[in-house]
Amino acid sequence: MSIHVMKFGGTSVANLSRIKNVVQIVENKIYRHSERIILVVSAMSGVTNKLVEEYKRINKDISTPEYDAIVSTGEQCSSALISSMLNEKKISSRSILGWQLPILTDSNHSKARILQIDTRSFKKYLEDYKVLVVAGFQGVSKQNRITTLGRGGSDTSAVAIACSMGLDSCEIYTDVEGIFTSDPRVVKDANKINSITYEEILELASLGSKVLHPRSVELAMKYGIRIHVRSSFEKKIGTMVIKEESKIEREIVTGITSSEKDAKITLKGIPDKPGIAAKIFSILARNNINVDMIVQNITDDGKFASLTFTVPEDDEKKAVKEIKNSNIKFKNIHSNSSICKISIVGVGMRSNVGVAQKMFETLADMNINIQVISTSEIKISVLIDLPNKKKALNALHDAYKLSK
Ligand code: ADP
Ligand code: ASP
Ligand code: MG
Repeated sequence: MSIHVMKFGGTSVANLSRIKNVVQIVENKIYRHSERIILVVSAMSGVTNKLVEEYKRINKDISTPEYDAIVSTGEQCSSALISSMLNEKKISSRSILGWQLPILTDSNHSKARILQIDTRSFKKYLEDYKVLVVAGFQGVSKQNRITTLGRGGSDTSAVAIACSMGLDSCEIYTDVEGIFTSDPRVVKDANKINSITYEEILELASLGSKVLHPRSVELAMKYGIRIHVRSSFEKKIGTMVIKEESKIEREIVTGITSSEKDAKITLKGIPDKPGIAAKIFSILARNNINVDMIVQNITDDGKFASLTFTVPEDDEKKAVKEIKNSNIKFKNIHSNSSICKISIVGVGMRSNVGVAQKMFETLADMNINIQVISTSEIKISVLIDLPNKKKALNALHDAYKLSK
């Protein structure tokens, strides 16, 4: 029995006419290739946002089981609607929720990780139905509570299901033609990329490009699953995510992305002594707050330092409060979330010089101030003021000749 995993995002299931389109794609697939299909679906677009808003009117803390019980309902609805439509078309189908398989996760509510998927249930259901419509984004913990995998997590549900079923590929249908050199909604000249390496899309996804959920790429890379990101609106080939060895062209910069989800915290007048940074970051770690970019400066007299770092915007207030409540000595603390991280990514950076210089020069020419810099082998990120985001993305896109 050949099995195929296909995932459809929010815009692709946004209303009955889009759902009809999904059913059509599934019909073609059954006819052409596959005997059985596991369809992983997101909530209809906008639904999860509304659910999050409703919940936050009562509680701002999203790490509770009730947050997940609420926000997972969008997928319950879309999976049942799609399955109903398939059955109307005489394609035997049933909807499956995370707990019904089960898709077992840890109990980190709002950002759970999949631990295990019961493939025996899948195999059993696949004997009775041609198409299984699985509610993406959700699972169940050992404590028997519904969990969700983080915003955009349906991609991860799909890849995890393909892995657990021992398949070697997975199709992700979305509202753009594939993965582009930058978000095509922000950079008008962005180009579709035909193939991209796991490392590159993992960096882009982790640094803010929401076209794929980062964890889905991690899993695909680990288990060698080929991901085909393509449009549910057009019958075109999209982008293949592949191993670096298989890539012939190694562009210096493959893509540019931005993230607005961080806040910058600056501590001024901390003693310049060994162990202070360790103390500050251990407070944050204890509170489960991730630190991303870091920069430290020493005052002229060498006695004091200032430390700037970024944390997720959602943790900004907590981080400031915990530091203020600690015994760490400092002159003042300041935080700002009107910032944006711009990142350029490309495996070709490993073997080329002058990449960073071009980035800094381009931003300088636009009179955009760089606040913090961080690098890895295949990426350079800079922190800038949020209002400069679009200008910076477009200028860098041109500078690295990524435009159409
Ligand atoms: P889905 O609901 O199908 O999962 P998402 O909204 O999560 O879709 O992701 C698709 C969106 O990602 C696109 O509409 C696009 O605006 C955005 N995006 C950001 N960066 C990129 C990129 N580099 N390539 C393609 N799309 C991108
Ligand atoms: N519906 C969820 C969200 O909006 C999951 C997803 O779309 O992948 O984040
Ligand atoms: Mg998505």
